[in-house]
Order: sequence, then C-alpha cells, then structure tokens
Amino acid sequence: MTLRIVFLSIVMCIAAAGAASADAGASARIIHAGQLLDRPGQAPRGASTILVRGERIAEVRDGHLDAAAFGLADAEVIDLRDHFVLPGLIDSHVHLTSDLGGVAAQIAAVTRSQSDVAYEAALNARKTLDAGFTTVRNLGDSDGVIRALRDAINAGKVAGPRILTSNTSISATTGHADPTLGYRPELHEALDRGENLCDGVESCRRAVRRQVAQGADLIKITITGGVNSRIGSGLGVQMFEDEARAIVETAKLYDKKVAVHAHGADGINLALKLGVDSIEHGTLLDDASLRLFRETGAYYVPTLSTVNGYIGRLEANPEAYTGEVLAKIRWRIGITGKSLQRAVPAGVKIAFGTDAGVSLHGRNADEFELMVKHGMTPVQAVVAATVNAADLLGMSADIGTLEPGKYADLVAVRGDPLADVTVLKAVEHVIKGGVVVRQ
Ligand SMILES: [Zn+2]
Repeated sequence: MTLRIVFLSIVMCIAAAGAASADAGASARIIHAGQLLDRPGQAPRGASTILVRGERIAEVRDGHLDAAAFGLADAEVIDLRDHFVLPGLIDSHVHLTSDLGGVAAQIAAVTRSQSDVAYEAALNARKTLDAGFTTVRNLGDSDGVIRALRDAINAGKVAGPRILTSNTSISATTGHADPTLGYRPELHEALDRGENLCDGVESCRRAVRRQVAQGADLIKITITGGVNSRIGSGLGVQMFEDEARAIVETAKLYDKKVAVHAHGADGINLALKLGVDSIEHGTLLDDASLRLFRETGAYYVPTLSTVNGYIGRLEANPEAYTGEVLAKIRWRIGITGKSLQRAVPAGVKIAFGTDAGVSLHGRNADEFELMVKHGMTPVQAVVAATVNAADLLGMSADIGTLEPGKYADLVAVRGDPLADVTVLKAVEHVIKGGVVVRQ
C-alpha cells in the first residue's frame, strides 16, 4: 500500500515536471508581423509581435520585440515582417470527402469504398489547410469518415484544419440528401445506409439522435430540393413543418446548432421561424426572409463558389451533368449573388462558406472575390471568414481573432487584403495552434 503511494507520487512528479518544462521552454514562440489584423472589423495594427505559448496566444504587443522583452531566455522567432498577418480563415460549409460532381460523382458512389473516400478526405483536408483555412465546418458525411478525420487531426495523426462535423445530412425520403436518388431500385439497399432519412416526427427525432450518438458537432438538414440532386422536383420545401420542427427541437435538446440547406423561400422562411442557426445557399431569399434573419440573428452562408465548380466541370466536359441537374445548374449560375446583394444592405449577418466539394478543395479563397463582386466590402468578407464564422461555429472563445487566450491560428499574405481581397488566394504562411504548417 505504502509502496504503491510512493510509486504513484514519483510518477506524478515526473509528469508534472515534464508538463512544466514543455510549457516554459520549447513551446514559447515569437511571431513578428509586418501588419497585423488582430481583430477583423477594426483597423489593422502596424508592426507587431505575438507571443505564443503552447497552442495559444499569450500576448500581442506593438513593435518587433525579442525574447528578453517577454522575460524569456530564448524563443523561436517566426519572421513575418514582410507580411500582412490575419487570423486563420474559417470555411463554414465544406464537403471534404470529394470534389467530384455530376456523372463522375454518381459513378464514384457505386465504385469507391469508404476506405478510398477516407484517403481522399485526408488529402482534401491538407489542401484546405494549405489554402489558409485552419477551421472548417463539414456539412454532409457518410459512415463517419469525417468524424474519424476530425479526431485524427485533433490527435495530431494527420494534418488538416480543425473540423466541426454534422455527420450525415438529415433529409426526407426522396429529399435532396437521399443517397438513392437516380439509381436503379436494386441498388437502393446498398446505397441507403440507414443513417439519415426520416419521415414523420418520431423518425426525424431518431435521425437527429443517431447523428449525435455518432459524434456530430452540429446537425445539418436539407429542407428544400437541391441543385445536384438527381430529381426534377424543384428547389422548394421537402419537409413538413412538424418534421423540421422535430429535428430542430431534438438538436436543441442536445445543445447542437442546426445548419439548413435551403434554396426556395418557403424552406428558408420555415427554417428561420423554427430558430435555426444558419441558412446555406439561400438562393431565393424574399422580404420575409430578410426580416426573419434580422429578428432571429441567424447567419446567411452564401456558398457562391459552387458556380466555379459548375463552370469548370462543364468547360472540361459539356456532358459532366445531365438532364434536370444541368437545367438547375444553368439557373443557379445565372442567379448567383442575387440574394447576397439583397442581404448585405438589409443588415443580415453573413458567414463565409464555399460548399467546397462542389467547387474544388484548396480554392476556398476564391469565395472572397465573389463576395466582393456581389456587394460586400473586402473588410466585410474578411469579417465573414473570421469573426462571424467563429460566432456561427460557437467557437468565438478560441478562434476568429488574434487575442490572448485564443489559438495561435494565423495566415500571412503579401499585400493588403483589405484593399485587394484576392491576395487571400495566395496565402504564403499558415500557422495552426502555434505550429507552422505551411511556409
Ligand atoms: Zn453543401
């Protein structure tokens, strides 16, 4: 008994000593920034020094200071004196499992195993991180591939952004996220993994609980039709009010936010009335939508980048999409940005989100250019990808600005993104949790 206590005390002393030395010595880093946008929405600071301890920011001071100024004997210095430094970027809407579309995606669904998909997702996570996106929200998964990737990244086993995952999108049978749409009936049993379809209140409650049990950080629902679903039933609402209400209420029971795929105003407005946290795409916002956004404080996530994916694939292959999907894509290309142009002057809160997967992974920053083209200032676009997205994700205590106590997630570019937002397409350095992950 006595021996065991002595042994345990020794083990605890060794562990404590290890933790203390790691904290005080090797993990202190100093970052010298040429200009620093520590709080997007406010004016950038000039030459600045960020002291990082472990994964988080300890101090931010004006000028370029050395280790001694912080009372340290020594510290690694990361020299970004020629760069404009801002918080790590946040994409509120990605699908890391693939960036195939149209017919190619349809074939992949019946030829790729989930093991293949997992490696693809890891590659796409790396591309996203290299593009300066240190946090993403993944809205649509199957078999927990992204849940496993999230956990592997958090454990330091593979490189990638911080991930919040909704797991599989919840959909009505024959709704936008029904995995059997467009396939022969004999294949349906294999394609529908019983994860995400719900009809009626009990079934929809159960669908939410299933996602929560499988480690979902939030809930995603497809309340209206979608551009890519292989069904010609339009882009209006596909869920009854009691079904959508059951989903939102069950999500709130587990303290999970709700992200809603919605194109038609009927679906957008039903979701907003039920108190959801974000509307994704929001292609056909009407006056009632604008009022409901303002009343509820929900975010609008425009996903303008989808058009880049559509146009790119059709240029490479005019038959990349077929039938009713092609007709919807032509419509969506023409209407891109119209809702954003109404939402910005109406004071709707905007969070950055691309729908990467429809567009290419690693090209997330192309969205900034489209946001500015459709009515936002560069400052507003940067705020959408930092402060606002952090708020939407419920992570404002950890990310979105560069302040003491937050993760040292930051990117460095040449030029001033507040003057020319396209410089964010060429991020030169990416630091996540105080570690240089790209230079
Ligand atoms: Zn999406």
